[in-house]
Amino acid sequence: MSKSKDFLRTIVEEDLKSGKYQEVHTRFPPEPNGFPHIGHAKSIAINFGIARDYQGRCNLRMDDTNPTTEDTKYVEALKDAVKWLGFEWDDSVRFTSDYFPKLYDYAVELIKMGKAYVDSINEEEMREYRGTVTEAGKRSKYAERSVEENLDLFERMKNGEFKDGEHVLRARIDMSAANMQMRDPLLYRIRHAKHHRTGNEWSIYPMYDFAHCLSDYIEGITHSLCTLEFENNRAIYDWVLDTLELDPPRPYQYEFARLAVNYTVMSKRKLLELVEGGQVSGWDDPRMPTIAGYKRRGYTPESILTFCDQIGIAKANSMVDVSQLEFCIRDDLNTKVPRVMCVLDPLKVTITNYDEKEELDASYYPDDVPKEGFRKLPFSREIYIERDDFSQTPPKGYFRLTPEQPVRLKHAYIISCEEVIKDANGNITEIKAVYHPASKSGSDTSGIKVKSAIHWVSAKEAKTVEVRLYDRLFTNEVPESVEDINPDSLKIIKNALIEPAVITDKPDERFQFERQGYFYADPIDYSDETPVFNKIVGLKDSWGKKKKKAPKSEHKPQAKKEQIDGEVAPMSESEQALFDKYTAELKLNSEVANTLARDKRLSSFYEDALSMLNSPVALANIVANEVARELKENEGETLKFTAKQVAKLVKMLDNETISSKIAKQVFEEMAKSGEEPTQIVEAKGLIQISDTSVIAPIIDEIIAKNPDNVAKFKAGNTKLLGFFVGQALKATGGKANPKVVNELVAKKLK
Ligand code: ATP
Ligand code: MG
Repeated sequence: MSKSKDFLRTIVEEDLKSGKYQEVHTRFPPEPNGFPHIGHAKSIAINFGIARDYQGRCNLRMDDTNPTTEDTKYVEALKDAVKWLGFEWDDSVRFTSDYFPKLYDYAVELIKMGKAYVDSINEEEMREYRGTVTEAGKRSKYAERSVEENLDLFERMKNGEFKDGEHVLRARIDMSAANMQMRDPLLYRIRHAKHHRTGNEWSIYPMYDFAHCLSDYIEGITHSLCTLEFENNRAIYDWVLDTLELDPPRPYQYEFARLAVNYTVMSKRKLLELVEGGQVSGWDDPRMPTIAGYKRRGYTPESILTFCDQIGIAKANSMVDVSQLEFCIRDDLNTKVPRVMCVLDPLKVTITNYDEKEELDASYYPDDVPKEGFRKLPFSREIYIERDDFSQTPPKGYFRLTPEQPVRLKHAYIISCEEVIKDANGNITEIKAVYHPASKSGSDTSGIKVKSAIHWVSAKEAKTVEVRLYDRLFTNEVPESVEDINPDSLKIIKNALIEPAVITDKPDERFQFERQGYFYADPIDYSDETPVFNKIVGLKDSWGKKKKKAPKSEHKPQAKKEQIDGEVAPMSESEQALFDKYTAELKLNSEVANTLARDKRLSSFYEDALSMLNSPVALANIVANEVARELKENEGETLKFTAKQVAKLVKMLDNETISSKIAKQVFEEMAKSGEEPTQIVEAKGLIQISDTSVIAPIIDEIIAKNPDNVAKFKAGNTKLLGFFVGQALKATGGKANPKVVNELVAKKLK
């Protein structure tokens, strides 16, 4: 390996060296409920990459424990993705469902040990008994059931004697554990649903926390690599394997940061919404961040792997700039693909002093690309150029063809405009030009100076092609919904003109259309009769320019550099001391503590605020996020607000004078004007509404307006609670107290 080792490889190497394992064995364990996306590519690259680097093995396992959302078409898509990225899984594809009988036996084992019990309280009681972060939970009375009774009930659950939700199997761990996940987690639930592989054989399905660790064990996995959100589940992972006293060696779980990319939605649920809502043509729409989408768009597997390599493997989540992925594909294709000419918006040019026909020799590759290849380029009296490569009233700095300014036709001659022909509406329909015989490319003795070379095609020989111009699917850096979709994410040009060699010689599938970008012959719709090309990426990052205004982006490269290394620089002693204090004494989470400890300005700002208000967590959050952003954006300038003002703001938040949503708004205001937060709140009437008599009628109205969602909620879709709460918060401009809204909504929907 050329680059420095990441923390996972360090662990693997140590475990091999110490003899803990003879061979590394990883797995990629997706749930087949959607097409894999670029985040999965990261996980694939890590799991398969580590196995390959240490001559080990990697399994592809379908984590198919949820019968209602899974489908074999997703299984196929996952297999395709792994293969396309160039990896091979060990043996055949594995399925958690293959282990259902074994998992059942393990559960019986736990019951016999008195370590698991059948619980029969309803969902609401379950939530109530669970306690909160600050309060211990309590155990249900059913936990007293005898082993015999538990065995009997569990078997009958399996046999389908009970309805969904009537009973669950739970681990007996600790209802007062600080880690809420350890409060007697569910191991099995009843689900009368058809499974895509086991059909109606099972009426109970194991939960992730039970199935995952044991599937790893059954397969002989050594390092179970997953994303950070499973950090708290690691305790259950260990508990299950240890409690069962399985024969060693057993696997261990390690967590790495999940990939998030701006201008992109990533969760399979959201992607499914786009597919089902018809916003895209399918899972493989070239605008989708799915592997199938990138593949169809024309991305190469190499470019995706390079990207995964560059972002590295870190222990803290961060947002990656999508332009980094675009850079990787551009960089990859730059050294690989032939350059050809395609006119997207043709304007006819008649060269009045040229009556012959010739075929020019033109290299497919520029000098700095170490590849060779030529084609014949027909040149004739009638050609087409790009409409905007001619201007009758050129702006300053316009280097292309004008009535006064000659231009070079790439690989051919210099032409000068003689006459502009227009239709009745004044639109230019044709240019009459003359060519300069002595200016032939490669043997130019004309002495004529031009400022640029443009692409063109010969009218008679050119082929008509369809070109699909793809752009980012979302205009918003952190897209939330379909409202953020870029209306210009797809433009179809039916009558673009391309030089004939592209179609007849087929020197490649991917091309650089000179001056336009990189393009790919669509693998599905392309035929020689109707060729179709997808735009993969432009030649330059056009979004970077558009964003210039926002100073934020100018600081991105730095963030990127850190990610490229993938390794976090070590802390100095004093930074480390701060970090330890923040995590141990002030109970900040490690990400926030890390941000503060590593930046002197932030830590001293934080300490100042803390000396005025004893609210370490809330203050840390605002300093590590909002204040940090302000400092970055106003580099060199002093901030308009003080630590004291931030403390005042947080105080209002703490005593529920304002909601957290409003707090953000007040912060923005304060950062801009330097005004006192208390004054901003007062002047704008932003005080949080906790009064139920104000909130209740708003909720009633929302409930009345959404009978469909009410019905769905009552039918068991409890996730819709969030919908109602969100609507109510929106209706009050974010001023309603979310806690009160939550309670009221729950009560009213009962
Ligand atoms: P999503 O939330 O997007 O639906 P998921 O986590 O539910 O994804 P799984 O199919 O359960 O998807 O994930 C399979 C593997 O891929 C897991 O190990 C998971 O940690 C990893 N993975 C999923 N998303 C990402 C991501 N954005 N970055 C890195 N790894 C990911
Ligand atoms: Mg999932």
